[in-house]
Amino acid sequence: MADKQARRIAKFIAPLRVKPGSRVDLERDFDPRYKARMKKRKGTELLRTGVALLAEYQAKLAAQDAYGVLLCLQAIDAGGKDGTIRHVMSGVNPQGVHVSSFKVPSAEELDHDYLWRYAQRLPARGEIAIFNRSHYEEVLVVRVHPENLDRQRLPEEAKGPDVWERRYREINDWERYLCDNGFKVVKIFLNLSNEEQRTRFLKRIDLPEKNWKFSGADVRERARWDDYQRAFSEMISATSTPWAPWYVVPADRKWFARISAAAVLAHTLTEIDPRYPAVGKKARKELRAAKRRLEREAPEGAARDPYAAGREAERGV
Ligand code: ATP
Ligand code: MG
Repeated sequence: MADKQARRIAKFIAPLRVKPGSRVDLERDFDPRYKARMKKRKGTELLRTGVALLAEYQAKLAAQDAYGVLLCLQAIDAGGKDGTIRHVMSGVNPQGVHVSSFKVPSAEELDHDYLWRYAQRLPARGEIAIFNRSHYEEVLVVRVHPENLDRQRLPEEAKGPDVWERRYREINDWERYLCDNGFKVVKIFLNLSNEEQRTRFLKRIDLPEKNWKFSGADVRERARWDDYQRAFSEMISATSTPWAPWYVVPADRKWFARISAAAVLAHTLTEIDPRYPAVGKKARKELRAAKRRLEREAPEGAARDPYAAGREAERGV
């Protein structure tokens, strides 16, 4: 049963995965409106199942305490990162998840190597960490606006024309190191169309309760649409690896983006296949001794084991 479910999830996300080594041209290869011939109602139902499944896996991941998961979310403005995180993680225990949002780096952050601030937010074993924007900004916004690179105060020899190729390699190496040490890295790019971004910006302007989400910088960045698409395509081509693949999730329909993201995360967890730790012989003996002791403490008239009695009553024994 569990295997069947895992196979279904794997099949669902297969068309979204970027084959390592392939050259991606986002606009040519991925349709932001793709929805796998699914109806919205079916999608909403699936998301509910997916969220419950994630909660179950996360509990096991935490109990096993051996693996960690890092989910990186990248998108153009208004791509739906926040809503995706809110919906996908809605069922999980907040103690096992950490969300970090990365904005313009601080002076302290700029005083370190470029991966420093991301390294500090990595998951511990048993945890899921979500990066809302991630180390990939270092080859996206920093590339589209090279003045960001100047602010990083690199020595002359470290900022030559090969800097982006080098960063791709360094990022791949870093992710491989994490993966080899039990931290799975999974990367989602929310692929929004130009027209849907226009519509979402207008909504943010038209609805007073959404005004706070909009800034003039958003339209200025939109003017660089083609540069961003190029940077996204190159980044995805260079950094989709067997150990940390990219998934390009169609983002024009929020409901489909959310089930896809939930499925990608669920797939990562099915691959880890975390288990509750088995209790050894000695520990089981201890459990039995403790049970006997607690049963002896039962007050006058109370069941010896109220929990077991309740379960028996439920089963009609
Ligand atoms: P929202 O979708 O709600 O607008 P957001 O992630 O866009 O959320 P903002 O505060 O609007 O958050 O923007 C964060 C800004 O930080 C983005 O414009 C992004 O390009 C910028 N940023 C992130 N990482 C870096 C970086 N390493 N160097 C320079 N700028 C960065
Ligand atoms: Mg923004």
